Formats: sequence, structure tokens, C-alpha cells
Amino acid sequence: MKSFTVACCLLPLVHFSFAEKWYKGNTHVHTKLCGHADSTPEVVAQWYHDHGYNFLILSEHNKYIDPSTVKLDGEIRDDFLLVPGEEVTGPVHSTAMNVSRLVPWEFKDKNRSKVVQWQVNETKKAGGITILNHPNAPIIRPAELYPVKDLYLFELYNAHPMTKNFGDAHRPSTSSLWNALLDKGMTIYGVASDDSHKFAKWDEKYDNPGRGWVMVRSNDLSSDAITLAMNRGDFYSSSGVILKKVMVANSRIEVEIDEEETARELTSQFLFGRPVKKGKPGTFIEFIGPGGEVEETVSGIKANREAKEDYLRCMITHRVKKSDGSLREYYAWTQPVFTDGR
Ligand SMILES: [Zn+2]
Ligand SMILES: [Zn+2]
Repeated sequence: MKSFTVACCLLPLVHFSFAEKWYKGNTHVHTKLCGHADSTPEVVAQWYHDHGYNFLILSEHNKYIDPSTVKLDGEIRDDFLLVPGEEVTGPVHSTAMNVSRLVPWEFKDKNRSKVVQWQVNETKKAGGITILNHPNAPIIRPAELYPVKDLYLFELYNAHPMTKNFGDAHRPSTSSLWNALLDKGMTIYGVASDDSHKFAKWDEKYDNPGRGWVMVRSNDLSSDAITLAMNRGDFYSSSGVILKKVMVANSRIEVEIDEEETARELTSQFLFGRPVKKGKPGTFIEFIGPGGEVEETVSGIKANREAKEDYLRCMITHRVKKSDGSLREYYAWTQPVFTDGR
């Protein structure tokens, strides 16, 4: 997919300017260098380049891959960028985004609040920002994150099959973790990523690429601009649904689904969606407020709502009946709007 500019009339944005564009990116992927993935940094970067992404972080476990050492083949699009990074891998994992060097990972402590804080601080010293990764594998409880300062991003949706985004008998969903953090007054945004390790073997059960990504609004495709935009929540996350209009400002959220672009994403042979047992096919927009309460559900492709108190966020579900009769769900998640003007 090439990057696309959304017409100005569709974009009553918080930080609107005529140069702003949406950039599709993945912040989390692995290469052979970690010892348990199957492809070189070049092959991995080439896949994302060839599949229309605009940016990628080669977030290797405790290894810094200098983007200038990764050479792509063929005609290289000028709207493709490798953002430097690493997956800081200790008792807790986090993506160190846009760092200029290796971030150390040795700090271990029984208190995981201290571990996360240490990763945030060390990443900052290396010039970057932290995305807390797959908080349901291992399970991180909300109270462990309450004391952490300067953490603005976490993986709401990690497409690796083992990461339990939607919870199970032993853990609540990452969505309820998010609600708990927002209820506590934290400013924290939800990221979707691939965390893929396999590019040589393909199946729904493998951690292949192309299943979770972010759409970042920025006036420039540079590592600094993309990182700053994500850190201020100027993006939405997707596992298949593309939005044509996203307004998250002035205590109000307004969204409209881009049906054409969503249908195009769903033709991907790499995207399977989340299997569900029941429900009618269709598109549903849910507005979620304090306590995780679904304040309103709208059937259809557009909706808007004003936040009553504290915060409001929005989740869009596109449910499809496949030719084999199974039901699959694809999502988009906006960032929260805060009534205190944050
Ligand atoms: Zn990890
Ligand atoms: Zn990973």
C-alpha cells in the first residue's frame, strides 16, 4: 500500500495541517539475530517495504540493528523508513523506539514497576521512547504500572498467537488493563503490532507479519516525527479496519470507517482476524468510558460522541462471515480523549 493523503475536508484534526498524512507502521518484529526467528533483517525489512508499510522498527531482543546497515533490493520507495530500535528483553519486554544505540537490559528486580521504570529511563537516555510490550505475556497487573512515570505507550494488541490480548481464564484482556490505567489518570495510548518471527513458513497459527499495525498522523516521515506523533497519541491501531475520519479532540470522538480501504486490507492472505463464535456480520462502533463501561454502541460506519467525564475511547469492530461459515473480527482502536484537555 502506498501512503495516502486523506482529503482535508474529511479531517477536522487536532494538529491539522495540509501536509499531514497517515503512515502505516509496525513497531515490533524479529530477525535471525535473536536466534529463534527465521529471516535476516534485510528479508524482514523487504517484506514490510514490499507490502506497503511506511515504517518499521527491527526490534530485536537486546540487539541494536543500525538501519543504515540494512540494504533493500530493487526500487526502494522513498516513503519507507526504518526507525531504529530494540526490544529491551528482561523480566518485562518493551520496544525502545527511535534510540541511537543499544539500550541495556540487565536490570532485574522482583518489583516489576522498577523494571519498567528502569527500561523507560534507559530508553530515554538513548534518545527514545518506550512501548510496553505484550502485557498479558507475562501478565502485568495494573497496580504494577500505576507508579511508572513517562510511559505513554503499551501494546493493546500484539498479533503473536501466544500473547492473550483478549484475556482468558487466568487474565483479563489488555483492554481492561488499559481501562484501569486510564481510570487511574494515566495518559497512555494503545499500540497494535505484529511481533512476528516467521517469514519463511506461513500459517494462521504462526507468528507471521501483517496482522497488527498503527496508522500514525504526521506531517513528516522521519523517525523523530513519527515517534513524537505516537508519543502524543496521534495515531490509531488496527488489526484490519481502516478509518477515513478520526477526530479525537475537544472532549469528543468522531470516526468514520473507510470501507474501501478496509475491504482491501481484508483481501490480505496474511490477515485472518479473530475467530468468534457468535454475532451478526457487520460493523459496530463502541464508545468506552470510565470503568470500561460501553456507553454507546452504534451499528454502521460512522459515529460520534462526547466524553461525559474523565475520558472516552472508541473501538470499531468489523465482523465478517467467511465462506466456510466461520465468524472473524477485525478491529480499529482510537486513542482516548480526555475531558481535562490533555
Ligand atoms: Zn517480547
Ligand atoms: Zn518481540
